Amino acid sequence: MSLPRTLGELRHSQFSEQRLRSRRVKDELRENLAGRLRENTPIFPGIVGYDDTVVPQIVNAILSRHNFILLGLRGQAKSRILRALTSLLDPQMPYIAGCEIHDNPYEPICRRCREMVEECSDATAIAYLAPDDRYVEKLATPDVTIADLIGDIDPIKAARGGHELSSEFTVHYGLLPRSNRGIFAINELPDLAGKIQVGLFNIMQEGDVQIKGYPVRLPLDVALVFSANPEDYTARGKIITPLKDRIGSEIRTHYPATVEEGIAITAQEAWTKRDGHKLQVPKYVQEVIERIAFAAREDKKIDKRSGVSQRLPISCMENVISNAERRAIRHGEDLVVPRIGDVYAALPAITGKLELEYEGEMKGADFVGRELIRAAIAKSYDNYFSGANMQPIVQWFDLGGEIQLADTAGAKDALESLRGIQGLLDKTVKVGVGPKDDLALQVSAAEFILEGLHAHKRIGRNEERVFKAGEKKPEPAREKSFETEDRPYRPRRQFN
Ligand SMILES: [Zn+2]
Repeated sequence: MSLPRTLGELRHSQFSEQRLRSRRVKDELRENLAGRLRENTPIFPGIVGYDDTVVPQIVNAILSRHNFILLGLRGQAKSRILRALTSLLDPQMPYIAGCEIHDNPYEPICRRCREMVEECSDATAIAYLAPDDRYVEKLATPDVTIADLIGDIDPIKAARGGHELSSEFTVHYGLLPRSNRGIFAINELPDLAGKIQVGLFNIMQEGDVQIKGYPVRLPLDVALVFSANPEDYTARGKIITPLKDRIGSEIRTHYPATVEEGIAITAQEAWTKRDGHKLQVPKYVQEVIERIAFAAREDKKIDKRSGVSQRLPISCMENVISNAERRAIRHGEDLVVPRIGDVYAALPAITGKLELEYEGEMKGADFVGRELIRAAIAKSYDNYFSGANMQPIVQWFDLGGEIQLADTAGAKDALESLRGIQGLLDKTVKVGVGPKDDLALQVSAAEFILEGLHAHKRIGRNEERVFKAGEKKPEPAREKSFETEDRPYRPRRQFN
């Protein structure tokens, strides 16, 4: 079906005056959202872990026709959610062709369009915008000006057309008017200078604004959404109170609540489908990568205020796969299977994403990164092997056994040397790997066990990735059993 191309045609189409004239962006979002709720289809496909927390609050904000702000640390999918709002816009939105601010054909606000409709009437040309064209995003920085955001008086335009300086013809529109009848997102709102916040508030509240001292009337129709770091936002003086007042809903985002949710996000976001090689990332490798982020978020050596982005496990996963890929290519192996050693090789994807506190700075990002990996391994190891008897393996090392397992070693050679450790390969069934599985899978599983024992300090490992006996700790004094050995039987004293 072809779309109406003139105002006359538009009047007799689904985009009738009755339907469109007073339908503002927030009505449109609300209506389309209600449709999705009725059909019970996902509101924001691909947003994981927010179904019971963030999403219902956003739904309420939209149903309330609020401007809203997402408060959260970095890497909590804030921008992604804001961009996903476009999926709640109509597939096609008619506007007066050629209008810089996409005027409503039935209610144009710019002078050019008002005059055009008067002149051409039903012959006025109509154009359309797709949802993505109706989303404008701006990262707030202290140097953003009124001219960037709202507009500027253009003296050349004025001179050429013979207009008064304050005439609407001379305004060069900024980002906000250009997002008229759409969604305007400002990220890191507190970084916006106070003066600009005032301008923003005036537009929201009164529909007019002063540009270089000239009052300009701009009754815009925009859904405003923001994001900010919660501490910046709540810090006194960062946001002018009237602007804060006009933001209807304040919604807190969060990091994945469980390792499983983190794994789902990372699996969705990381670049894993690569050309050429088949890839199999063992579950325990996924868990270790995810737990690095979980451990980092709790670590005192890392700045809580800035958070640990979900981009950490995502980049880490990509690097881990690459390291495994490199090995597979070198050895002509068909199947790429990451190992725990590859996680250590992915340190460059980790360290840059940690904002260290003083104590962390002293120890260095590499050290902190390695500690996090080790803690993540220990936890994941316990998940599979707690209670398993690993004594024979530890003993093999204690009796002088040593094995080098470079992250570049091919599966065939590595498995050959791993076979020498009695009992080791039997234990891989705990992670679902048996002797009939691909060699690379067997090596990875066995290496996980060794790395787990090392993470628990039961065996040692040096820089060259040689596993060997752990440092001898003094035997812990045996816990004395309270009832049985220590106390001689003492008859109960009789009271009566
Ligand atoms: Zn216009």
